Amino acid sequence: MVRSERRRIDKAEPDNWPVDPARASEAIGAASHPAVAEASRVDAARRGRGAASKHSGRFEREWREEADDGWGSLASLENLKTNIHVERPRAIISRNDSPDIPFDRSINPYRGCEHGCVYCYARPTHAYMGLSPGLDFETEIFVKEGAAQALERELSAPGYVAKTIAIGANTDPYQPSERRYRITRGLLEALARANHPVGVVTKSALVMRDIDLIAPMARKGLAKVAISVTTLDRALARALEPRAASPESRLATIARLADAGVPVAVLTAPIIPALNDGEIETILARAHAAGAREAGYVMLRLPLELRDLFSEWLVTHFPAKARRVLALVRSARGGKLYDASFDQRMTGSGPYAQMIKRRFEVAAARLVFGETRLRTDLFEPPRRQAEQLALF
Ligand code: SF4
Repeated sequence: MVRSERRRIDKAEPDNWPVDPARASEAIGAASHPAVAEASRVDAARRGRGAASKHSGRFEREWREEADDGWGSLASLENLKTNIHVERPRAIISRNDSPDIPFDRSINPYRGCEHGCVYCYARPTHAYMGLSPGLDFETEIFVKEGAAQALERELSAPGYVAKTIAIGANTDPYQPSERRYRITRGLLEALARANHPVGVVTKSALVMRDIDLIAPMARKGLAKVAISVTTLDRALARALEPRAASPESRLATIARLADAGVPVAVLTAPIIPALNDGEIETILARAHAAGAREAGYVMLRLPLELRDLFSEWLVTHFPAKARRVLALVRSARGGKLYDASFDQRMTGSGPYAQMIKRRFEVAAARLVFGETRLRTDLFEPPRRQAEQLALF
């Protein structure tokens, strides 16, 4: 039997938080800690998912985790199902004024992401809903129905000024649920009608389904797509991003988009020390050969609950490397596992981070990547279009 353990947390004393097995493991020698065997059993039962646990988020007063009652019961856990929750947002465009982000507005058609990348920096947002940034993030998916209508209302608002909208900056707009719900497609249709610029970020080959919308927009200078390629190693990709497209599929998607005339960027993100940092040059070269003409990278980011989730995953999948990976992460983050300051969070600091930056710049310069700027002058608000149609 599996029981759900509940412990009270005294938020006033952060040191009272339960000691995470992964962090304890790191301290005493990753490979030898019993947490490694325990986490591996859970992982075997939760095959196809990224996180190894569903620990409570930071806002909960009680810490919940599944615990074996001594009968090896965690090994017999059923595979987790994905649950869909439909919500109808009144507004859909999120704004930001972060100096290190190249867009000031974005849309995320889904909350949570079934791709389940263990390093996903959107995971901590599930804590706002009382859900675990671990397994709940990849199994409790919120679908924003009516997103296209909300978008048209916002584009019609008096005084709206067009600027590139990033779709998928937080969660993947082409995750599996998009096949059925077509929220992203509805948004693209609304943006195409309004001649509004859009940048799509995804790991999924499903973006090709919408090439009939994206390619004509690209021809007008209104659309581009960024594909993130984390590694070319299938086994590593499977462990890191269990339900995302394979590396070959992502390269093929870059090639098909580029062939259709769509400007494509490759994101070598995130760079994880001692796991995929040796692949920067190869990924850039393969993506460039496939047709990518813009490139970027982001250093592994471990905000909030992600620190423990990633450590736990590391100890489960790469116990012999865990200590080295975390040491390098700390070296790139001023001695901590994460530094959220704007000038640090994307690329890190210190000699290791400098070395990664230099390698990326040299490789990108050799291949010649550029930047595609999208047009904003063609924008026509949906309201004005409706008024013009009413004249006929
Ligand atoms: S595909 Fe993107 S949004 Fe989805 S889990 Fe991976 S990193 Fe997060």
